[in-house]
Amino acid sequence: MPITDEIVLPAQILSQGIGFGKPIFLNSQNIFEENTYLKKDIDQEILKFKKAIKKSKKEILEIKKSFANDELKITFDILNTHLEILSDPVILSEVVNRIKKENKSIHKILKNLLDEYKNKIKDPFFKEKVTDISDVFKRVLKNIKPSNTDFLKRVEKKSIIISDEIIPSDIFDRDSSKISAFISVMTSYGSHAAIIARSKNIPFVSNIDIEKIKNINMQDMIVDAEKGKVIINPTKKTYEKYKRAPALIESSQTKEKIKLQKDVNIFVNISSLKELDDINDKKISGIGLLRTELLFFKKQIPSQKEQLDVYTKIAKKLKNRPFVIRLFDLGADKNFYNIIQSNKTCFFSTRGAALLLKNQKILKDQVIAILKASLFGNIYLLIPFVKDIDEIIEIKKIIKSLQEDLKIPTSTIKIGSMIETPVAALMVDEIVKEVDFLSIGTNDLSRYTFASNKISLKDFHPALQKLFVMILKAANDSKKPTFLCGEMIADKKIMEKLYSLGMKNFSVSLKNAQLF
Ligand code: PEP
Ligand code: MG
Repeated sequence: MPITDEIVLPAQILSQGIGFGKPIFLNSQNIFEENTYLKKDIDQEILKFKKAIKKSKKEILEIKKSFANDELKITFDILNTHLEILSDPVILSEVVNRIKKENKSIHKILKNLLDEYKNKIKDPFFKEKVTDISDVFKRVLKNIKPSNTDFLKRVEKKSIIISDEIIPSDIFDRDSSKISAFISVMTSYGSHAAIIARSKNIPFVSNIDIEKIKNINMQDMIVDAEKGKVIINPTKKTYEKYKRAPALIESSQTKEKIKLQKDVNIFVNISSLKELDDINDKKISGIGLLRTELLFFKKQIPSQKEQLDVYTKIAKKLKNRPFVIRLFDLGADKNFYNIIQSNKTCFFSTRGAALLLKNQKILKDQVIAILKASLFGNIYLLIPFVKDIDEIIEIKKIIKSLQEDLKIPTSTIKIGSMIETPVAALMVDEIVKEVDFLSIGTNDLSRYTFASNKISLKDFHPALQKLFVMILKAANDSKKPTFLCGEMIADKKIMEKLYSLGMKNFSVSLKNAQLF
């Protein structure tokens, strides 16, 4: 079939961003239809069903562990709902009873049950619950017999996934760094899939008539989830226009640009490997924060070698621009792999520097990877969630001894402390003596200062201002650089206020970096 000219279709935006890639069609309905065998042995069927439930629960618990901080709350809520469905006695006994009574396969029984729920439940609020049930049923069916329609397992890098319906497990179960965008026929803005796509920064559009585009010979696509359109087989000119300035298209539309004073530097916070493609922008002075927890998206603790590869690659890319690598900030809401033996999120559990000191193998592996990578760039090693000067002293001792073992000169890295707990802010004049630089974490600093999780940094509360004055005074007196990590400077007035307090190095998300 010949490749058509460029086609532009309007679309509804569910998750902003711009994605480039090759289309992959996913038939989400198939799994219910695919296996129509009749049951032979009732006990066997029930056993298969129960085993699949058990496996599905295990998978969801694994996914829960592998999610990073800023996604945790909503993702956890959704995954917990899925776990509840898998343990729901009404649903489970209904399926078992039907297996006993009806001469049908589990596929058929689950499909019928789902159709009944769909017909019965019209309330939009509860409709989302039906989507969750559908998602869970699909997972159970996949675990009864692995599906060969599961295209996503083998997605290539830069794929655009097109389906009637995108469900959370389409996003959870795959390496999302390979997915450039999602397109669906009809998904609501408030659907779980849309919420997760937003939290993972994956562009997602809906209201596309898939039947119409199915027969087009599609080579490439651009999903412009900023302006709300899908471009099929873009011309070279269109492609280059998007490649040149995707971020400009995004920001110039939404917000007024902020003019910077000459001595202000804008760095970026990196929370996913996907973002690294965009750090070459000349305006960006470097990486102000690499959230290394992003490496925990995989199913195990990242090895020294895996870390070294990532850090070295980034260091080479940045050349001499500063590259702040934060040691793993684990614990509390970032309790990956149950590093703390509790499933519950506790905001006052051991975290950050203190937790690393309790898990020295993890700490040492990471420090070794950072030290080796420091030969290729301008690396700043940042200690997370410091609550006590002794934590810094202990970690510095470990770094020094590893430097000696590896014969890496001490001058290759700078060591800094996060100031993101009120105690660290209050002790900053002591802390600053122990380190080469400081980094203010506005998220945690406000959370723990106000003892609340619902902070609007936009208000720039006087209490925070007082803390900033203290921190900046200590930093300026000692002449040590200080970074401010947080999105509050996307507000022009706050930016000006912080500048007037003496703040010069700001680290923001890539998206907000385009405001300057
Ligand atoms: C912060 O707390 O502001 C910070 C930069 O760290 P994180 O958001 O990763 O906890
Ligand atoms: Mg923090």
